[in-house]
Amino acid sequence: MGPARAPAVALKAGRDKSLRERHPWIYSGAIERVEGDPGPGDTVEVRSHDGALLAVAAFSPASQIRARAWSFAPEAIDAAFFAQRVRAAVEARAGMLDERHTACRLVHGESDGLPGVVADRYGDTIVVQFSSAGAERWREAIVDALVAATGAANVVERSDAEVRRLEGLAPRTGVLRGSVPGPVTMLEDGLAWRVDVLAGQKTGFYLDQRDNRHCVRALCADRDVLNAFCYTGGFTLAALAGGARSVVSIDSSADALALARENLAVNPDLRGRSCEWRETDVFAELRELRNRGAGFGVIVLDPPKFAPTAAHAAKAARAYKDINLLALKLLSPGGLLATFSCSGGMSAELFQKIVAGAAQDAKADAAIVGRFCAGADHPVALAFPEGDYLKGLLIRKARDARG
Ligand code: SAH
Repeated sequence: MGPARAPAVALKAGRDKSLRERHPWIYSGAIERVEGDPGPGDTVEVRSHDGALLAVAAFSPASQIRARAWSFAPEAIDAAFFAQRVRAAVEARAGMLDERHTACRLVHGESDGLPGVVADRYGDTIVVQFSSAGAERWREAIVDALVAATGAANVVERSDAEVRRLEGLAPRTGVLRGSVPGPVTMLEDGLAWRVDVLAGQKTGFYLDQRDNRHCVRALCADRDVLNAFCYTGGFTLAALAGGARSVVSIDSSADALALARENLAVNPDLRGRSCEWRETDVFAELRELRNRGAGFGVIVLDPPKFAPTAAHAAKAARAYKDINLLALKLLSPGGLLATFSCSGGMSAELFQKIVAGAAQDAKADAAIVGRFCAGADHPVALAFPEGDYLKGLLIRKARDARG
């Protein structure tokens, strides 16, 4: 008997194009046969129909994405491999942490060559999220690599994202290294923030909006601001720091608003200006504000993913149109709307069409004066356009009412 062959996946004829273009996902429908009986997370060689090695990948028997490429070269997938990938990702963020910023994303999944791995740094604490069978298999090596590359004292696992179910993985959360008794503190844009890494949404904070909060901050001087879907007060504190006259913030989550209040409290310089938190549904509250004839100089709309996949696009489109229409009505002449979509299932083009339709229906003359995306710590590999989920528009409403 010869040496045991490595487990392998052979693709159907003509199904190797995306892998040759370095897109890391291998769908079950592209696979002709699986050899060597690999289990969840096992490393498999991926071969074209005519036997050429295209990638080494993590096998995931439960998922439609049956394998995710670790590498497009015949490399050994071991602890040293993860140490190298993690180090490269951390080094790429070196310029993003400074005396005003102690938080950023360190590993952004596929776009950092680590499918299914997310790691966010908040000061001395790293929060990791493993959402694929391959990431799960190598979690210890990845955590060791993160600690080695950063010297962080604490690591928290937040592998409780819905997508894990598609990989046949149960949720898992907990403190993996050090000690994290409750919310941690970090700095963004010179402001202090309390982040609930143990139970907050995602890994605790929406780091992808960092540059956009900075941008909005510069627009708010002496304006009355409405921050819809405020979570723990990200855009609210940015607006106050930018000199807003007043801020009304809306979110349906009591936990998020409790931390938002705490965030205001730990930034004493921001106190004293009018800042109101409303725990309610944004859709209903925007209608209520409109019925009362309220007006705002700056409005931020940063809703949750209404369209996680393209299949939800139609329903999501109605929701986006609804809130944008109401916001455009609530905007004072000359006012600014920063409106976002973090739905992977909605393209930037479609989002712009929806906002244009909302302006039509609101009878508002408005123009795009800026565009938003996630910051540089959330890179989008050109071979992986799925990573480009966050888009936003800065809209200015005309000073003169439509004639
Ligand atoms: N802008 C925030 C992140 C927003 S995340 C930041 O910079 O940190 C989206 C938020 O919308 C979550 O906090 C969630 O609790 C809230 N949310 C979701 N649906 C809602 C609804 N219908 N009404 C009010 N809040 C909602």
